[in-house]
Amino acid sequence: MHTGELLQEFYNRLYRYFGSRNWWPGDTPFEIMVGAILTQNTNWKNVERAIANLKTEGLLTITAMSALSREQLAEYIRPAGYYNIKADRLRNFFALINGQWDGDLDLFLRQPATVLREELLSVKGIGPETADSMVLYAAGKPVFVVDAYTHRILIRHEIIDEFYDYYMIQELFMDNLEEDSALFNEYHALIVQVGKEFCKKSRPVCEGCPLAGFNGIKCAN
Ligand code: SF4
Repeated sequence: MHTGELLQEFYNRLYRYFGSRNWWPGDTPFEIMVGAILTQNTNWKNVERAIANLKTEGLLTITAMSALSREQLAEYIRPAGYYNIKADRLRNFFALINGQWDGDLDLFLRQPATVLREELLSVKGIGPETADSMVLYAAGKPVFVVDAYTHRILIRHEIIDEFYDYYMIQELFMDNLEEDSALFNEYHALIVQVGKEFCKKSRPVCEGCPLAGFNGIKCAN
């Protein structure tokens, strides 16, 4: 089967099983970008608690959050874990938007995806997955987000080998699928869902998984 057809089948199986995931949870592009930094190395429940702290105090704007000291910001986002490191990362991100874009996030997000991505990657603490999540979910531009689930599932179904890095996997999807932000949005969300529910790191739960039999691999156990 051609790679494009294979990746389309991958998507179809997940979509048929889970339906639309309505990602990314967040009311504004700014909230989505803050969430993308807070979710590094933690689960979404913890991020929600940190976001709720900020929302309750009416702080979920770049102006309000930029005015907080590092210590204050760290305290609000404490539930997300690694709160001192994440406070620094958020402040680095605010410095980019305030310093080069006069605090105008909408203007910043209007740039082409490749430029946006490069600028975000120049921020200390923002890596490819975080940058791409921001480009796709906050700016609505078509870039494929790769994560550990994507890597694991593709290896277990013998579509890639373990030496594939972030960019090689991203290229695999972007070279073989239509450049469509709605498709990339849903695809990544579906992969996260199947990874969480079935394709666990320690042991895949293949029975009942919508990907059982995909690419001829019934189970990777
Ligand atoms: S069938 Fe098994 S190996 Fe494949 S994605 Fe599902 S849990 Fe993972």
